[in-house]
Amino acid sequence: MNFISKSLDFFQESVIREMTRKAIENNAINLSQGMPDFSPPLELIEGIKKGVEEEEHQYSVTYGRADLREKIAKKLQKYNKIVVDPYNEITITCGASEAIASSILAITNPGDEIVILEPWYENYVPITYLAQGKPVFVPLEEDIYNVDEERLKNSITRNTKAIIVNSPHNPTGKVFSSSDFKTISDLCIDHDIIAITDEIYEYIIFDNLKHQSIGSFDSMQDKTITISGFSKTFSVTGWRIGYVAASKDLMGGIRKVHDYLTVCAPSLLQLASLNAFNLDSSYFNTLRNRYQANRDYFYDQLKNLGMKVFKPEGAYYMFANISQFDMDDVEFADFLVKDEGVAVVPGSSFYNNKNNNKNPGSDYVRFSISQKLETLKQAIERIKRKLI
Ligand code: GLN
Repeated sequence: MNFISKSLDFFQESVIREMTRKAIENNAINLSQGMPDFSPPLELIEGIKKGVEEEEHQYSVTYGRADLREKIAKKLQKYNKIVVDPYNEITITCGASEAIASSILAITNPGDEIVILEPWYENYVPITYLAQGKPVFVPLEEDIYNVDEERLKNSITRNTKAIIVNSPHNPTGKVFSSSDFKTISDLCIDHDIIAITDEIYEYIIFDNLKHQSIGSFDSMQDKTITISGFSKTFSVTGWRIGYVAASKDLMGGIRKVHDYLTVCAPSLLQLASLNAFNLDSSYFNTLRNRYQANRDYFYDQLKNLGMKVFKPEGAYYMFANISQFDMDDVEFADFLVKDEGVAVVPGSSFYNNKNNNKNPGSDYVRFSISQKLETLKQAIERIKRKLI
């Protein structure tokens, strides 16, 4: 008797998280699951102390603390140019991951199509299957990762419910251009499609590019579910504090799912997250500069090793072509992690596995560059020792 639900046949456990386990087993430097190895800002640590003093140990309101939602609404207005009512149109979730799950589950009827631009961050696909939706994979343009207007248009059917947008993009570091966003928003408006936008890397953006939120585009306000969180911006990936903003109608559905899925995000850490709003622009500049320096260093190093790499414009990953090493992505990742090596994520985990055909990601691996520069330098030493 197989007790496991058939809906799980369509996907496997996260390879990103598996590589973290392999990193620990092999005493490797973990450049797989994107997380910093440095401390979050002191303000947030002080926030935890305050939470302990105030004995903030019980459930919060299921939608999340009202004062935190008020601050997020102000931030959305200022940074994202999106106007939302904090009481009816924002919910605090257990990380952006839960916001993604609650949103997809809230809008999907069996057979609804969810358009996912390829390569994609792992979580979008399993959740679509769990919601009994059908993921429709639309490749971004090869190696430059622009939105392919023709292909995206051709993927739209009467069953298309949503397009998932992710800029800055995981795993490539692409930042979509205004024309990419316009292509997507025009389709959403013309065909009555929702944009679910994962903006978790919104403050990690390089070369003076400006972050754009599709929810701020004309006529997109009621058609956009905007997702972000504290994990990446404040280096607290383990706190699991994310949020989702959407029109009152959409939020009604999202809140129903969230309520039964997780009840509320950790109260103590919601309280501590309030302190993030005491940080000024110098904090955000320092964060950006830190990751841009990581990007510059690591990009040069990978190029010197002969890898073809897309130069990230944001986020904290590097997607590198490793085909010259005569290993596929999984062999390469297994080889690199062994014996105090370096953990990376095989590129195939970001693509649909087409039966019989070669997975387009099998020539690539993803390096996370979210660590201290000195950690990246040690990682490069180890990579050189193994590959040269
Ligand atoms: N975004 C992170 C990554 O791609 C993982 C996030 C998570 O594991 N929840 O590595």
